[in-house]
Amino acid sequence: MTKTFAKNFIGVATLALATFLTPLRAAVPVVGQPLPAWERGQLDIHQINTGTGNAALLILPDGTTMLLDAGAGYREDKVKSHYDAPQRPNATLRPGQWIARYVRRMLPEGERGALDYAMLTHFHADHMGEVRKEAPKSPSGTYVLTGITDVAQEIPIRRLLDRGWPNYDFPAPSGGPIMVNYRAFLKWQTEHNGLKVERFEPGRADQIVLLRAPKEFPHFAIRNIAGNGYAWTGAGTATRNRFPEGTIPVENNCSLAFRLSYGAFSYFNGGDMAGVPDAVVAGAPPSNSAAWAEMESAVAWVTGPVDVQAANHHSTPDTANAFFLSVLQPRVQVISTYAASQPGPDLLRRMLSDRVYPGPRDIFMTNWIWPGRREHMVELYGETDTAWLAERIGQFASSQGHVVVRVEPGAATYRVIVVDDSKDNGAVLSVHGPYQSRGLAARP
Ligand SMILES: [Zn+2]
Repeated sequence: MTKTFAKNFIGVATLALATFLTPLRAAVPVVGQPLPAWERGQLDIHQINTGTGNAALLILPDGTTMLLDAGAGYREDKVKSHYDAPQRPNATLRPGQWIARYVRRMLPEGERGALDYAMLTHFHADHMGEVRKEAPKSPSGTYVLTGITDVAQEIPIRRLLDRGWPNYDFPAPSGGPIMVNYRAFLKWQTEHNGLKVERFEPGRADQIVLLRAPKEFPHFAIRNIAGNGYAWTGAGTATRNRFPEGTIPVENNCSLAFRLSYGAFSYFNGGDMAGVPDAVVAGAPPSNSAAWAEMESAVAWVTGPVDVQAANHHSTPDTANAFFLSVLQPRVQVISTYAASQPGPDLLRRMLSDRVYPGPRDIFMTNWIWPGRREHMVELYGETDTAWLAERIGQFASSQGHVVVRVEPGAATYRVIVVDDSKDNGAVLSVHGPYQSRGLAARP
């Protein structure tokens, strides 16, 4: 009896100890296996590859969730040099539906009913969804399903941040089909589905916050860095307007930008902001030729060095200026690509140059090989640069797949995990790191 009791006691005590210790040893991802689920204390940043634009899922340390963009740019809707990549994993569903599937699978157990936040960096199809003639109507009949509206159809969104709410009149009122559809979506969702919408305010660090257990993770913050040409000054919540009076910037430079810090780890995302006014792709006009409009220089100094940076504007040649890179000094760069022009050769020379910033760096790209890419690159950049690009991209840490940055509890280290994007719920392809978080941008 006593022996049995002692045995049972040891058994129960061991089980209790094991249960207590489990969260300290998060499951390490294994090549060929599915990505282990997010665990409490981890920070996940999933760059989801649909081949049609930008979409990222953030799972914050206490389980608060945010979708950043839900692009659906369709190849046949655009001129050549845009949306070249095929849809991933395939075209049997719309990109927004694939994003929703990915998101639902990865959301923390018990939190799969809704997304806490969604944020649109700016109002372009590859970040919110093209409106096509064949797009189905929402059940309400008041808007069509594409990109962000497709995601919301599958997973309700509680709070949405964008750069235009409520008037959508900067830099000028927009009557384009994407915005008409988006505003009809907002109207229905706010009136019938409990959606709250807010305009993202540069300078603030209290607009995207931990909602479940903020006191447990005091060293976590998201600082709004820029939007609509206003950039944080670094003092309090003060901002400065980059666009001179009377100018009309292009949409990309109105992009929202933020810096996330979690302990010693930091991450920057600046949407499609530009930084190289004179960049030209094969004779096409630059996306914004004015020096006053480029935002990278305006945000670099207040952002400071970071561990991981999402490359601006898909690494189109008008981005990643030397000053910006030399200040951010990212150890890891994640490039969300879908066009043959991405990345540009001059841009990649800057990204790789130790004259721009010293030290090692790993580059992860979402899309590389598709039929016709090479020929199109030759058209844009010529044979010599295309061969050089192919060689360098071959040396990237990864050039195809979903890219998941997973910061360990406590944020001292992080890994980058590449996940197969050719099928739904694909396996882990490679695991990189652990990298040491550098604690370079510790201020909130
Ligand atoms: Zn874009």
